Amino acid sequence: MPARVVDLRSDTVTHPTPAMRAAMASAEVGDDGHGEDPTVKRLEALAAERLGKEAAVLVSSGTMGNLAGALTQTEPGDTMIVGAYCHPSLKGAAGIAVYGGVKPYEIPTERGRMNPDDVRAAIRSVRESEDGQPTLLCLENTHNQQNGVPLDPAAVGSASAVAHEHGLRVHVDGARLFNAAVALDVPASDLVADVDSVSFCLSKGLSCPVGSLLCGDADFVERARGVRKLLGGTMRQSGVIAAAGIVALDQMIDRLAEDHANGRRLAEGIAALPGLSTNPDDVPTNLVFADLDPAMFNGDEFSARLAAEGVLVGGGQRPRFVTHYGITADDVDFALAAIGRVTADTRTAAAA
Ligand SMILES: *Cc1c(COP(=O)(O)O)cnc(C)c1O
Repeated sequence: MPARVVDLRSDTVTHPTPAMRAAMASAEVGDDGHGEDPTVKRLEALAAERLGKEAAVLVSSGTMGNLAGALTQTEPGDTMIVGAYCHPSLKGAAGIAVYGGVKPYEIPTERGRMNPDDVRAAIRSVRESEDGQPTLLCLENTHNQQNGVPLDPAAVGSASAVAHEHGLRVHVDGARLFNAAVALDVPASDLVADVDSVSFCLSKGLSCPVGSLLCGDADFVERARGVRKLLGGTMRQSGVIAAAGIVALDQMIDRLAEDHANGRRLAEGIAALPGLSTNPDDVPTNLVFADLDPAMFNGDEFSARLAAEGVLVGGGQRPRFVTHYGITADDVDFALAAIGRVTADTRTAAAA
C-alpha cells in the first residue's frame, strides 16, 4: 500500500468526526423498537424540522429509505415513474420490484430535470396500457449520474405539480440533498416543499458512520415505520447512531461548500490533462466524472495504476472522483499529480 492514500471512490468512505465519536460515546439511549430512544427521537425531530416536514424515521441506509418510501406509497402491481439513470432505477429498482411488486417506468431527463410534458405523457401511457397504475413519481437530488447536478425548487415543483394533478405521490431520493441545498444556497426545505416524501443519507458527505432519514407527513412516517419493521430495519439502542446524525445536521452541512470547491479544482486539473475529458463548469457539487480516451486508457487499468500511486477512484471507462470530508485541496493536488504521471506514462508507452 502506498504511504499516502487519497480515497476518491465515494463520500461513503468518510469517517465519523471527533465530535461525532464523543456524542456517540455519551448518547442517551433506549429501545427504539418501543419508541424509547430519546436520541433517535431528537434526530428525527431535527431532520423533520430541517426539511419542513411533519415527521421523520431513521433507517439503516439510503437504499432502505427509498425502498420504504416506495413501499409505503404504492401497491403491488403499481408503476413508479423515474428519471433515466436515476439511482432508484439503476440500483434500487430490483428491491422495489421484488419486495413491492412495483414496476419502474423510465423517462428521459435533461441533467436530472424532468420535462413536465414527459411526466404527463408517461402517466397517460401507463394508464392507457392498463398495465399497472402509476402511483409514484421519483426524483433524485443531487443527481448522481448527471455530475451531481442539484435540482432547484422550480424543477422539483414543476414535475411534482403534474404528478399531483394526476393523483400520484412524489418521492425524492435526496441521498445528497444537502449538497444540493449548499450548491444552490437555499434551505433544504425549499427543495422538498412540493414533495410527499424524501430520504437523505447521513453516511455520505455528512460523514456519519451509518444512517438515512425518511421524512414526510406524520401519517406517511407512521406507515413507513411499519414498513421498516417488515423489512427487518427496526433498530434498538440506535441513539448511538443518531447522536452522530445530530452532530452532522448541526456541524457538517455548511462545510460541504469546501467539497464542491475541491470538486471543481479537481475537474480543472483533470481537464488540462491529455486523454481525460471533463467540463469543470459542469461540476456543481462533489462528483467529478471524466471520460477516458479509449485509445489511451482502459478504464480498469487506469484505476489500477492510480491505486498503485495511492489514489483510489471508481472504475470503468468513465471514472468517478468524489470529494468529501477528509479530502483537502492538497489531497486534490496530490491526486492530480498522480493522474498526470499515469497519463505521461501512457503517452510514452504509446509513442514507443
Ligand atoms: C448512495 C445512494 C443511495 C443509496 O444509499 P446507501 O446508503 O448506500 O444505501 C441512493 N441514492 C443515491 C442517489 C445515492 O447516491
